[in-house]
Amino acid sequence: MTEQTLVVVGAGHVAASAARALRRRGFAGPVVLVGDEPVGPYQRPHLSKERLSTGGDDGLWLLTPAWCEANDVTLRTDSPVERIAADTGSVLLADGTSLPADLVVLATGGRPRRLPGVEGERVHHIRTLADSDRLRERLRPGRRIGVLGGGFLGTEVAAAALTLGAEVVVFDRDPVLLARAMGADIGAAVTGLHRSRGVDLRLGRPISEIRPGADGVDVVTEAGTETVDDLVVCIGIEPNTDVALASGLVVGNGVEVDAHGRTSLPTVFAAGDVAAHDHPLYGRVRVEHVDVAQRQAAAIAATVAGRPTAFGDAHWFWTDQYEVNVQGLGMTGVRPSDVVVTRGSLADLEGTVFWLRDGQLVAGASIERGEDLSVARELMDLEIPVTAEQLADESVELEELLEQEEVPV
Ligand SMILES: Cc1cc2nc3c(=O)[nH]c(=O)nc-3n(C[C@H](O)[C@H](O)[C@H](O)COP(=O)(O)OP(=O)(O)OC[C@H]3O[C@@H](n4cnc5c(N)ncnc54)[C@H](O)[C@@H]3O)c2cc1C
Repeated sequence: MTEQTLVVVGAGHVAASAARALRRRGFAGPVVLVGDEPVGPYQRPHLSKERLSTGGDDGLWLLTPAWCEANDVTLRTDSPVERIAADTGSVLLADGTSLPADLVVLATGGRPRRLPGVEGERVHHIRTLADSDRLRERLRPGRRIGVLGGGFLGTEVAAAALTLGAEVVVFDRDPVLLARAMGADIGAAVTGLHRSRGVDLRLGRPISEIRPGADGVDVVTEAGTETVDDLVVCIGIEPNTDVALASGLVVGNGVEVDAHGRTSLPTVFAAGDVAAHDHPLYGRVRVEHVDVAQRQAAAIAATVAGRPTAFGDAHWFWTDQYEVNVQGLGMTGVRPSDVVVTRGSLADLEGTVFWLRDGQLVAGASIERGEDLSVARELMDLEIPVTAEQLADESVELEELLEQEEVPV
């Protein structure tokens, strides 16, 4: 049998994980990673953390040229893809050339959501290494930096900017930072953290207008006009679905895939930020987190290497704010009827929030307590019933709950 060629479109987190997993699983055919950036895959989370605050590249690169050579993986940078032609088994590039591709993993990620007319020298978005380096140039003492959006990215940028000595103002229509992603309690603790470090929080007021100018950017709310030197717009991403649409794939809020990562075309898979996957716990959902991208890539690699594997794990994610690590597991805070339990002290920035539904743990979020979520993952996987009292009681080791056995009646 001739070996199949697999092309990953987009050279980011999915591509790097897929390449490694394909070789580990014994996939013997050519593997080609095709990306439109000038560099190979790198840790995108670094862009708002280490890279932004230090400019260094420790731990930045996901694949080295030596690894690619040793594992016979071809990396093509600066090569935007236009379309997958599944009928002819090829991938068509914007430069008019094409590549043979028996199997394709579409992993084009996402692009920052932009506001119409809010652009120019003083307006920033962060998705690429170049974006992060450009912003870093502006973060220094004496500069007033505005951050629009108090989600993961906005709060990380605020922390990095403050650490570099800039004055920072965060604008969000929500009254609490990170609340939508992490729930109100963790959100309140993170809000307190930023306030205590000196970030100027302008929360709970919608922005009515933004006027970028030659000398600064005016941000207008009902409370008045604030002028900042630079504005970083962190209001989410849109999936990069252009290639999918041009290739005739079914696209909704992202490229629709089944639990194995299969798109509507049998030889094309999709994963990561671009993919709206069918999840056994959460239904159809598109998630923008590294761990999900990596696990989906690994599942697809196993499937194409002959061991069909579905992705059905609870989503796990993290953010670093200054020196404080915050993590989430599952769909945090989805239903008002969920029982919400706190363990430890969020006010002291060391605690965990659990969400319980019908006696089962369904989600968790922690500050400086990643180990709680490791146990929570096992409790969720094994569907071990737990009570709010057990979770809240610090004298009960969470590991002990794993050992609870059902008593036969
Ligand atoms: C600043 C920042 C910080 C983050 N921090 C965290 C964090 O702390 N924790 C966390 O869990 N997640 C974080 N994320 C999210 C995480 O980086 C993404 O979930 C992850 O990168 C998704 O991987 P991916 O492979 O789907 O997409 P990407 O890593 O974005 O890779 C997609 C690649 O495809 C390329 N591409 C697009 N279109 C084409 C085309 N037509 N042809 C060729 N190439 C194309 C893109 O340029 C890109 O290089 C962060 C994201 C950003 C931007």
